Amino acid sequence: MRIVIKVGTSTLTYGNGNINIRRMENLCKVMSDLKNSGLEIILVSSGAIAMGIGKLGLKEKPGDIPSKQAAAAIGQCELMYIYDKLFQEHNHTVAQILMTGADFENEERFSNFRNTLDRLLELGVLPVINENDTIATSEIKVGDNDTLSAITAAGVNADLLILLSDIDGLYTADPHRVADAVLIPEVKEISADIMELAGSKGSELATGGMVTKLHAAQICMDAGMDMVIANGSNPNILYDIFEGKPAGTRFVGKGK
Ligand code: GLU
Repeated sequence: MRIVIKVGTSTLTYGNGNINIRRMENLCKVMSDLKNSGLEIILVSSGAIAMGIGKLGLKEKPGDIPSKQAAAAIGQCELMYIYDKLFQEHNHTVAQILMTGADFENEERFSNFRNTLDRLLELGVLPVINENDTIATSEIKVGDNDTLSAITAAGVNADLLILLSDIDGLYTADPHRVADAVLIPEVKEISADIMELAGSKGSELATGGMVTKLHAAQICMDAGMDMVIANGSNPNILYDIFEGKPAGTRFVGKGK
């Protein structure tokens, strides 16, 4: 099975941009174990901007694009350094791939991306993908890693996309405000009603929210692939997903 796992900024870092060491250690351990069990794993990781902010000791996320790009350039090194170190502990090798929206749209570049990715997987390597924030301004930006991970998963014929976030899944109402909001375990169609359930706000340092996750779900479902949104605060949830236990919200691919 080929799995794409997307990890959001809020899962990897604290609100001040410093890395959440316990979370990252557990996450890399569980992913290493799943890889040992024979799964092909492609990781799409956010967190570069937040880690750059943490490293620079900035009080808040900068508003202007060059400062965000500078933070991303600093944080991306930190991110890969940590992944390299943590996966190495379990004998796994990581590779960095940075993409822009234009790379996905250009046939030749996209085919180069796929070829590299295929070879890395054949070599047993764990590819870690992020948007190339240094290059990507609004015209060529995918914009958020939810969408980027869905385009990647569909493009490399993955069997499943898992979005690990700071929320358990899709709820019948905003669980932060409505006490009796209930988690929806399965969605077969992204109807207007489902779309309406998505608020628009992510956490302080993150980019996506439920809206981008539903867009990602639509891309996966159209490609005939399932997508799961689950809470990354306990990385063991990844085991639950593969053991068929209740975990987050599953969006069922068309024709399944
Ligand atoms: N590429 C951005 C980063 O690494 C994150 C985009 C997103 O959170 O979706 O900080």
